[in-house]
Amino acid sequence: MRIVGHQTSDAAPPPFAGVELGGTKCVCTLAYGPDRIVDQCTIHTTGPDETRDAIRAVLRQWHGDHGLRGIGIASFGPVCLDPADPRYGSILATNKPGWRDTDVIGVATEFGVPVGFDTDVNAAALAEIRWGSGRGLRDFAYVTVGTGIGVGLIVHGQPTRGIGHSEIGHIRVPRLPGDHVASACRYHDDCVEGLASGSALVVRLGGRDAAGLSADDPVWDPMIAALAAMCHALVATTGPWRIAIGGGVFERQPHLHARVQAALIASLAGYIDIPTDRPFVTAPALGQLTGPLGSIALAETAWAVADAPDTARTDAPILLHQNG
Ligand code: ADP
Ligand code: ZN
Repeated sequence: MRIVGHQTSDAAPPPFAGVELGGTKCVCTLAYGPDRIVDQCTIHTTGPDETRDAIRAVLRQWHGDHGLRGIGIASFGPVCLDPADPRYGSILATNKPGWRDTDVIGVATEFGVPVGFDTDVNAAALAEIRWGSGRGLRDFAYVTVGTGIGVGLIVHGQPTRGIGHSEIGHIRVPRLPGDHVASACRYHDDCVEGLASGSALVVRLGGRDAAGLSADDPVWDPMIAALAAMCHALVATTGPWRIAIGGGVFERQPHLHARVQAALIASLAGYIDIPTDRPFVTAPALGQLTGPLGSIALAETAWAVADAPDTARTDAPILLHQNG
């Protein structure tokens, strides 16, 4: 296993640069890790040309001032992650105006350093196993419940890969009996995102303000059931040792973690035991930094693989290295 972060030379190595490209904002981070963030700036996500030019300008500035060891791009999706596909590093069929089929990895290729590219949630999951709530775990899931539901699923240290990246927010789950509220997903009547995302909450509230919601409001029941069903599916398929749930809804409603865990245990019905010596469904430990540090984790792993290419798979390197 590679140890990253220990230097034998006296010369300080350059930091890593990361770009968390979101639908509304883009956070650029220059860092060695959570304890040493050298610089950070936020760019509004506007049109693709303007946004990419702004990112390039930040990277050029940092490259000139500090040098860069690697760059990570953590992007909203869907994205192409297949290195053999000419669209690798591009955003695919997004609804975001102007961004469909937009190359994003190109902002980072002029610097001659390793570039890592993945979805924002896969990157966030890697940051959490590197430095946060999944530290030391090889099987772990990071879920964000915001406008949509995204899942970064780590299996044996790697984000899952297949015909695309995971879209577990769109698995179909049973509705609670009597729950006939319209789905917020325009593709599925009963997927988790349609029933339990922030957008689903808005539909369920029918004009009520989310700010005043109490923990015992009945609006949470069908959402908890849908999320517990999704966690049940995760546990039954790849068996994460912990599931961290972040995003705007869970950040504002921290009672939900324990309630989803209780509903998960009830749903598993004793057939599979989850570890309960500490919270299994938990908040991401890196808080607001989970996303930005995800891009740094991608940069670090890209650098690690380039440094020792025979020790890891090339498309999504293992990122487990405990330095203490
Ligand atoms: P994004 O996914 O766009 O980054 P956020 O993670 O900030 O968005 O989450 C936005 C969602 O948070 C909205 O869909 C909204 O329904 C939800 N939200 C806003 N206020 C509250 C609240 N007080 N309690 C629970 N959810 C809330
Ligand atoms: Zn759906």
